[in-house]
Amino acid sequence: MNYYIVVDLGATKTRIALSNSEKILEKTVYSTPKKGDEYTIAKTIIEAIMNQWRDLIRDVRGIGIASIGPLDIHSGVVINTPNLEIKRIELLKPLAEYFRKPVYIANDAIAAAWGEKHYGDARGVENYVYITLSTGVGAGVIVDGELLIGKMGNAHEVGHIVINFDSNIKCGCGGVGHWEAYAGGNNLPKLLQYLVKTRRYDSELARLANSGNPVDAKTIFEYYRRKDPLAVDIVDLYIKATAAGISSVINAYDPELITIGGSVFLNNVDILYEPILRLVRENIVTGLPEIKPTRLGDDVGLYGALALIVNPPVKLKKIQSRILESLGVEY
Ligand SMILES: [Zn+2]
Repeated sequence: MNYYIVVDLGATKTRIALSNSEKILEKTVYSTPKKGDEYTIAKTIIEAIMNQWRDLIRDVRGIGIASIGPLDIHSGVVINTPNLEIKRIELLKPLAEYFRKPVYIANDAIAAAWGEKHYGDARGVENYVYITLSTGVGAGVIVDGELLIGKMGNAHEVGHIVINFDSNIKCGCGGVGHWEAYAGGNNLPKLLQYLVKTRRYDSELARLANSGNPVDAKTIFEYYRRKDPLAVDIVDLYIKATAAGISSVINAYDPELITIGGSVFLNNVDILYEPILRLVRENIVTGLPEIKPTRLGDDVGLYGALALIVNPPVKLKKIQSRILESLGVEY
């Protein structure tokens, strides 16, 4: 039996699965370590793999990794990621050295686009964008059948599109007015604090936040469902920012299809989908693509990682096989 190990490294969760070339067979999910050095995350991935599938390792053909960005695909390292305290994360080399198997790594949203192309709704689609609305905001883009990668593997870090140049809302990356500053799950508590300081609210959510309780994206959407006025304002900004971002993406790449994933979106499709679509229609210069939630759900990153290792994109393979060669790993 030929197996693959696939890893979806997110800012909040790490998902690891055993797969064959067709589908995910078994998976394990744990919270991504928040602190440590550049090797901490690779070590926890190796431990999780060995705990679960030690006996099958010899039948594993390779490892695919879909990772939070930004990345340097030439070294297989995550650099200066805005949503984790560990700023530099070594991934490709420690895993390839430990397992002595080929490892390919790409930005999670780029990988997810490749996953949709091979296992999801983008099969047979030549112009396609995957958008993730999760802890952060990102996209993967296929234009004329070609997966866009970029000089360091960070093409279309669309979460950092400036959607409001006159903004006081700071993004995790340090920039202001970025799409992710309004729609990254990690940034929503900061957006909440900003609104509480600058506007007056009679709001249970505001009282909860002021009493020092941790408030996350999930809590904000729960309060939205109870029509809390502060939560309504936050979600309103979320929708406007995301519609601005998606309109910019459509105007830049002219896709036939967009699928949207990420926990914040997938858990709140009923609130977000229609209003975003309505605003997008008003702001595009090209034909409206089909826009829908990903059917791969939470596994979209894992299917992305699987597509990377089973069918590595040509450019990625060329770059990362050099690293594997330097480590003496056959690929
Ligand atoms: Zn940013």
